[in-house]
Amino acid sequence: MKRALVFSALLLAPSAPAQALREVARGVYLFKDTCNVYAIVRDKRAVLIDFGSGGILKELPALGVEKVAWVLQTHFHRDHTQEDALLRAQGIRLAVPESERKYFEAVENLWDEKRVFKLYDMRNEFLALARNVPVDRGLAPGTRFEEEGLRLEVLGTPGHTEGALSFLFDTGRERVLFCGDLAASAGKIPTLHDLEWPYVGARGIEAEMNSLKTVIRHAPDLLLPGHGAPSAKPAEWVPALLVRLATLYRINDWPRTAEPRPRTGPFQISKHLWQIRPPEINGVAYILVSDSGRALLWDINEIETRYLEEMARRAGFRGIDAVAVSHYHEDHVGGIGFVKERYGAKLWAMSHMVDVIQNPAAYNLPCLWHEGFKVDRVLADREKIVWEGIPLQFFYLPGQTEYSEGMLAEVDGSRLLFTGDNVAKPLPGTPLVGHFVCRNFLKLDGGHVVAARRLLELRPDFVCPNHFGFTRATPEVLESYRASSEEFVAAVRAIVDQPDPQLGVDNNWASIYPYQADARPGDALHYKLKVRNWLGARSRVKAVLRVPEQWTVTPATLDLDVNARGEAEAPFSVEIPSTENARGRRRVLLGDLWRDGEHLGEVTEALVNFAP
Ligand SMILES: [Zn+2]
Ligand SMILES: [Zn+2]
Repeated sequence: MKRALVFSALLLAPSAPAQALREVARGVYLFKDTCNVYAIVRDKRAVLIDFGSGGILKELPALGVEKVAWVLQTHFHRDHTQEDALLRAQGIRLAVPESERKYFEAVENLWDEKRVFKLYDMRNEFLALARNVPVDRGLAPGTRFEEEGLRLEVLGTPGHTEGALSFLFDTGRERVLFCGDLAASAGKIPTLHDLEWPYVGARGIEAEMNSLKTVIRHAPDLLLPGHGAPSAKPAEWVPALLVRLATLYRINDWPRTAEPRPRTGPFQISKHLWQIRPPEINGVAYILVSDSGRALLWDINEIETRYLEEMARRAGFRGIDAVAVSHYHEDHVGGIGFVKERYGAKLWAMSHMVDVIQNPAAYNLPCLWHEGFKVDRVLADREKIVWEGIPLQFFYLPGQTEYSEGMLAEVDGSRLLFTGDNVAKPLPGTPLVGHFVCRNFLKLDGGHVVAARRLLELRPDFVCPNHFGFTRATPEVLESYRASSEEFVAAVRAIVDQPDPQLGVDNNWASIYPYQADARPGDALHYKLKVRNWLGARSRVKAVLRVPEQWTVTPATLDLDVNARGEAEAPFSVEIPSTENARGRRRVLLGDLWRDGEHLGEVTEALVNFAP
């Protein structure tokens, strides 16, 4: 009785203009919410594909719908599921991909265990719900969903997520495919970053390509995507999309054309230049050694610190003056604490890298080290330092990550450009290609294209990557880096269905800072919502902040006006009740966002960690 009342109350709520629901196929209606929500309507009953913020419920009575029987989720991301907790109380059953049930029923465990530091698993689990939601049915690929006199074929279409499903349905007039975020408007995908599964390689892109081939095989008349516009005869545009994805695949699959370096232990490259190449990992640390017995490090990880004493004996240095770092990744900075303490070394880094090195917990980025290190000397772009008679120059050198720098050194008669992890050493005859990892903070207008231009400007004798051997920087090699970088960016621009393609690359365009906070019951936490506006026009972002039950957030709503291509931030505070019983657990804060009036959903979050 109570259930029915709640449901009727929602159905009777004042309804928006009738065009809120648009018939896109016979008996199939589209409601634009945080995602496209579709209703298949038969005899006053409806089955929904995805649910978004649930806004469709108050529109359906206008079509004479008296009962929503099921919601079928294409995948677990919050923009499709954020109000699923409403369903059970209203007698609406929930069906989700069988392999993604854990993101619904047991998602609180996922959050407790979710790795953030040293993260090399790029799958976008961060868009999972904050709280558990009961599931009525798991749907497996290759099965059918037959309820309410309807029959939907369940297709496994991994790509956007590993367990993503599409649903094929014959309306009696046309065959439609509800494809979730496998694709967006004709010829496009909603995001690139979701196709990154492992840190190295292109398994997600490969899955996406195979799933698009599945679409061609089933040749639906109409594709009904989770974002963007429905499109007729997708089989006609999928091949062109596949060609562009193949470009991204080829460039992302760089290990195929990289020449691995032997792991030989301490290794002398030239009179004043050494490298640690530990047998147990693909080492990174380069060491400049002066005639006076001083050393300067370019990167140092934790494992490499075990070799420093042996290195000092063999290379003949007695002290380490400084460590300069190429970027913030754990395998490049994890030994800094040791060399600061043991050798009194100073940490040098460029200004744009300082905060992520000092406060890694504030970020949700791959490969973070868990401790921050104080930067002792902040370098400017193109800053020159003569260290022990060796001329050094530091450069903003984005690419693999925005938080990256390069160092040009004139050592033993060669001009060496140390490039961090921007590139590997290519096999002879293959181009120099960048490492493109969206989640590292990759800029399309910038990134590798800017780095390649800088390399062409600097004309070093050698490009010196951290994990690989030196590459002779011939004009052809440098030109191949520029060309492959531009090719990658052009392919991304052509296929991302966003107001600006960068929004499909930058998963942190809106973020809550700090991302992780350690807290105790009774604490007050202070945050900023940060927004990067990639659009060429001013943008207005509204956020409704959602915190766990009994917690308070002030203010609960934020409005940011962000300049074209600019950034903005707004503060808020969260109070944790002293009665909070979350020992050893994590709680999730959510930002429900609207950009220029469009409801995007709970697309940003932050984690609060409670000690056991
Ligand atoms: Zn998604
Ligand atoms: Zn989506």
